[in-house]
Amino acid sequence: MDKVLIIGAGGVGRVAAFKCAQHPEVFREITLASRTRSKCDAIVADIKTKMSGRADKASPRIAAAQVDADRAAELAALINDVKPDLVMNIALPYQDLTIMDACLETGVHYLDTANYEHPDTAHFCYSPQWKYHERFAEAGLTALLGSGFDPGITNVYTAYARKHYFERMDTVDIIDCNAGDHGYPFATNFNPEINIREVSAKGRYYENGTWHETEPLSVKKIFDFPDGIGPKEMYLLYHEEMESLVRYYPEVQRMRFWMTFGQSYLTHLKVLQNVGMTRIDPVMYNGQEIIPLQFLKMLLPDPASLGAKTKGKTCIGCWITGSRKDGDSNPSPFDYYIYNTCVHEECFAETGAQAVSYTTGVPAALGAAMVMTGQWSGRGVFNMEQFDPDPFMQAVGDWGLPWQEIFNPHFQI
Ligand code: NDP
Repeated sequence: MDKVLIIGAGGVGRVAAFKCAQHPEVFREITLASRTRSKCDAIVADIKTKMSGRADKASPRIAAAQVDADRAAELAALINDVKPDLVMNIALPYQDLTIMDACLETGVHYLDTANYEHPDTAHFCYSPQWKYHERFAEAGLTALLGSGFDPGITNVYTAYARKHYFERMDTVDIIDCNAGDHGYPFATNFNPEINIREVSAKGRYYENGTWHETEPLSVKKIFDFPDGIGPKEMYLLYHEEMESLVRYYPEVQRMRFWMTFGQSYLTHLKVLQNVGMTRIDPVMYNGQEIIPLQFLKMLLPDPASLGAKTKGKTCIGCWITGSRKDGDSNPSPFDYYIYNTCVHEECFAETGAQAVSYTTGVPAALGAAMVMTGQWSGRGVFNMEQFDPDPFMQAVGDWGLPWQEIFNPHFQI
């Protein structure tokens, strides 16, 4: 297997295409397709320019194409034309099911970075995609879900911690900080529509076998981030990887997800919500139906354009408590923090994208490599934590996202 089709040419698609191109030992042919062909052409041209200076490695063949992934027939025609071994879905969560259908129809492996959402309801859950398990299994195909950072690397971190250090995990806190500054009073680091739907939804966390709901952004803590980032306010959100992690690690008593936001972002979001600009139901304007959030997206900076302006770091990781594997006679609780720190400017210098796109595009490409090289193999639909974390963890540092561990940090969250 050496041919990949990437669908989606936003910030994440750009990084995924760059990363695939940097690994011709896995990806010999890359096609980047999106709704807007010119965006693919621009990324392909940038990759060719950057790769031309690298005499050390053979370059893969890379081409651009146009496709509307909401149209199943158009998509299947492109897949039959390109004949990839795997399709990387880096478009929007709305396209997950049509792309999975097209992969089944054409007999191709599938990967994405975000779970399916229906455009009309901001509801995130894996069940529509888990329902494809039997069909992928019968077709002898692999579908790898949520191969970004969170979901994605956070699932692998949890699997790695469980495999190597924990006899039993009691709590998992996933902690996501973007300490970067793009200079705008309000902009989102990935697709504005998806980002605002996620952040303005009710919070949810898991405790003692039950999901507990909280009002949006109503639970706040301060966390002292490593690598010079320092203390930041972070808020409890619902995030999709918790659904698969509690499924595959039922021993966990409590699971929470936290994300940092700056005050300017929160103030703007509140005003936009209060005036109805984040609504996802249609309203009539000048005799035409519009969705306020989609209109707002048109006014906000394109996340793919933020790279040149964003300065600072991201830090995403998992803090896990439980009992230690080595049978240590000391019964005191064990806790463990594993994380990655990324510098926006370095990501931009390498790929032309900021760190939020980078931290998603790298694991997308590496997840694809895991499937294409057979290091992760299975028939059906899988989340990242279901595979052996070791080959992924051994490679992910070299691919651009090194990780660090702190044993017994004894955080209080
Ligand atoms: P962007 O909005 O910047 O890019 C999305 C791309 O998908 C655009 O190029 C767009 O094309 C294309 N697209 C949208 N609809 C279609 C369609 N029907 N057919 C073909 N192409 C389409 O988003 P990002 O790059 O920021 O994010 C990409 C994905 O990554 C999202 O699903 C997001 O939720 C996910 N993500 C996951 C993270 C993780 O850690 N797991 C973190 C961050 C993001 P056009 O521009 O022409 O409209």
